[in-house]
Amino acid sequence: MLSPASESGREPSAFPVLFLVDIDSEARERIAAALTRRFGADYQVRAAGTEPEGLAMLEQFRDDGVRVALVAADLALTRDEGGITFLERAHVIHPHASRVLLVAMDRRGTRIPFDSLAALRHATALNRIDFWVVKGGFSPEEWLYLRIQEALSTWTRLHGPHHEVLRIVGEQWSSSSHQLRETLSRNTVPFGFYSSDSERGRELIAAHRVDVARLPAVILHDGSVVHEPTTVDLAHALGVQTRPSSQVYDLVIVGAGPAGLAAALYGASEGLRTVVLEDRAIGGQAGTSSMIRNYLGFPRGISGGDLVFRAWEQALLFGAEFVFAQLAIGLASRNGLNAVTLSRGDDVLGRALILASGVEYRRLGVPSLDRWTGAGLFYGAAGSEAPALASERVCVVGGANSAGQAALHLSQFASHVTLIVRGAALQASMSDYLVRQIQATSNIDVRLRTRVVEGHGTERLAALELEDAEGRRETIPATAVFVMIGAEARTHWLGPAIRRDDHGFVLTGRDLPPDACEIDRPPLPFETSVPGVFAVGDVRHGSIKRVAEAVGEGSVAVGSVHQHLARSQPAGRG
Ligand SMILES: Cc1cc2nc3c(=O)[nH]c(=O)nc-3n(C[C@H](O)[C@H](O)[C@H](O)COP(=O)(O)OP(=O)(O)OC[C@H]3O[C@@H](n4cnc5c(N)ncnc54)[C@H](O)[C@@H]3O)c2cc1C
Repeated sequence: MLSPASESGREPSAFPVLFLVDIDSEARERIAAALTRRFGADYQVRAAGTEPEGLAMLEQFRDDGVRVALVAADLALTRDEGGITFLERAHVIHPHASRVLLVAMDRRGTRIPFDSLAALRHATALNRIDFWVVKGGFSPEEWLYLRIQEALSTWTRLHGPHHEVLRIVGEQWSSSSHQLRETLSRNTVPFGFYSSDSERGRELIAAHRVDVARLPAVILHDGSVVHEPTTVDLAHALGVQTRPSSQVYDLVIVGAGPAGLAAALYGASEGLRTVVLEDRAIGGQAGTSSMIRNYLGFPRGISGGDLVFRAWEQALLFGAEFVFAQLAIGLASRNGLNAVTLSRGDDVLGRALILASGVEYRRLGVPSLDRWTGAGLFYGAAGSEAPALASERVCVVGGANSAGQAALHLSQFASHVTLIVRGAALQASMSDYLVRQIQATSNIDVRLRTRVVEGHGTERLAALELEDAEGRRETIPATAVFVMIGAEARTHWLGPAIRRDDHGFVLTGRDLPPDACEIDRPPLPFETSVPGVFAVGDVRHGSIKRVAEAVGEGSVAVGSVHQHLARSQPAGRG
């Protein structure tokens, strides 16, 4: 055992554990010593040389009430994927510990061996690990500390004592408590939730005179209490801007998802007076993604929340203004400017307007499946996940072309694909060529008039429970399910002047019919049927529903905004 130096006054045995398992005794000792040197003041570093020894030690920690913050295991522990299996078992014993996979380089020290890379791909796609570290390097500063610090910061934020801007007292399982927690989490506001029937909850109720008939209640930093808070109450409590500071802007952007954030960043950084209107939370759909793995420059993935908050900070520093808890509900032309009416009565005028209001994927609405979102339950296309699903049994839900294409794509990797369709025949909603391909593919089976009613599993999604039209239930194995039951554009508030397709997606540029434009020139890239109004990201007809595309379009559309502004009168600048 390596004994940590105590500086915090606590007994070292009470420190959370950083646990390491590696059969290579030299590597194990070197890593454990490095971890002790860097983290020993706050954590106890413990190590094991074999899987059984490691599991026994972890069970002992659990029985003794010792918290384990991190488990790191070498990939080649007992056999090829031993480290991954070990981390899965460790996760059952200590579900909160960060799972770190240690991966050795090849003998030359130049690259990760092919087999290890395949195992790593598989483990990350199915969320079997949280972080990975390539073993090696001369100094642990080069390869070890940054990743371990990242894992410990995540663990502390989620499970350790941390700063609480707000304390909430409420009923644990009420939907208003859930909604409040979700809103604060999506806006990355650090908070503590205390169930009203817990000891701490009762203490807070007594100390702050919380009215238990009006829960949930939020206790602010000055001790004042807001009962049953609305989003606007929360915004005010946190000092967040909910009204525009001016009436006229060069650029008004509707939606603070990736497309709106990118437009805000480039608009503001290029000198345009820019405001972003957002009714819910920074980041849109991307902010709900636990791990975005296909965004350029983040080979280890990045949580959607982290990505969008960096973008928001960046846009804010360039001078973009953000107005929250306001829904854009009307659009009209006024004196050559675009006038957006907001849900709380304000009007804001823009010399140019970018619609970046995104879509909402239709959800399955199966609560027992939700915890695997992004880690077995996927909304949208299957492209990036498919190669990692070799030999797995997977499902696709949906009967349209996108679902058919996903099933075919997945069938090249997975051992078996089940296509789950509510309708009575694939032909009703899918192109004939796809139907024929599906019928000719031996490892795809189609369940018609069927829906998903439950998800089952412990560490990973393991099975789906299906129900047919006669109410008969069947449980089938599935480690991943791709849901493609459509997405909805929230564009009903735009008047008829903004041309849309049959599904409400906004037509722009060359997609506009020739008679659609109000002016006598071809539309600019991303321009809608109304001059000076642009649409980018998922809300745009023909977009491919990806973070990278939304960011790209939001950035590029600012070029069109400049062209529009250069051509139009500089009317009504505020
Ligand atoms: C769970 C999940 C995981 C995903 N994972 C990935 C992934 O790993 N990789 C990837 O590339 N893509 C992923 N996507 C898709 C990706 O998130 C979207 O393509 C992307 O967010 C689209 O960005 P956007 O800005 O166009 O729209 P959105 O992200 O939908 O943002 C639109 C914003 O506009 C706001 N808004 C809408 N209407 C109004 C209004 N009238 N007034 C004010 N505000 C309004 C909404 O509240 C929202 O915040 C995922 C999507 C989901 C749901």
